Amino acid sequence: MPLPTEFADALRAAVGDDYVRTDAASLTSYGVDALKRGHDADVVVLPDGADQVSAILKLCSAHLVPIVPRGGGTGYTGGAVPLRGGVVLSLERMNRILEIDEQNLVAVVEPNAITGTIQDAVERVGLFYPPDPASLRTSVIGGMITATVLAIFYIPLFFVLVRRGVRDGLVYLRERRRRRSEAAV
Ligand SMILES: Cc1cc2nc3c(=O)[nH]c(=O)nc-3n(C[C@H](O)[C@H](O)[C@H](O)COP(=O)(O)OP(=O)(O)OC[C@H]3O[C@@H](n4cnc5c(N)ncnc54)[C@H](O)[C@@H]3O)c2cc1C
Repeated sequence: MPLPTEFADALRAAVGDDYVRTDAASLTSYGVDALKRGHDADVVVLPDGADQVSAILKLCSAHLVPIVPRGGGTGYTGGAVPLRGGVVLSLERMNRILEIDEQNLVAVVEPNAITGTIQDAVERVGLFYPPDPASLRTSVIGGMITATVLAIFYIPLFFVLVRRGVRDGLVYLRERRRRRSEAAV
């Protein structure tokens, strides 16, 4: 489905030319997961930050363009495949560990923090993040939570997902932690 020109222009204005990909190689490689079978996207967008994600979501909503978030692309179930084309929202630039709160056993991370990097970071301060998939070095936390729900069983950490909005998520987490700390006094 060819996307309206004004839609593509607005995407570029939101995230910058370098982070909007429409070349054939990108559309194909971001259109598959680990099975290597999929469907080409119409455009791949690589935002950095909640404001850019929010702008992309608003544009897709206004133009009724389908959107599929993508983590590490290591899933085997087609969840990251843009079956109806549209936008692949690759979160690969949002991969930072923002905070490890040892007292409250909470890590605040961006959605594409790599699973193994989180594990390494918490182990450096004497903590443990148990989920340990064979895709440790290539899967990311947003994809893991969405695809496997492992985090429900292992809850040493809380995560900030793009669907919540990074900024709102941080506020939510801080408020929740403040209440927990006060309750413990
Ligand atoms: C070599 C290899 C070994 C593996 N080993 C294991 C294993 O031991 N155990 C296991 O359980 N799995 C394993 N897997 C499968 C895969 O790694 C997991 O399912 C992993 O959790 C997927 O993470 P991802 O970041 O690659 O997600 P992706 O494949 O990119 O996405 C998965 C789903 O999450 C959605 N998504 C991604 N990020 C976000 C976000 N920020 N917000 C909302 N939705 C989002 C996508 O749209 C998609 O629906 C393996 C895969 C490979 C290739």
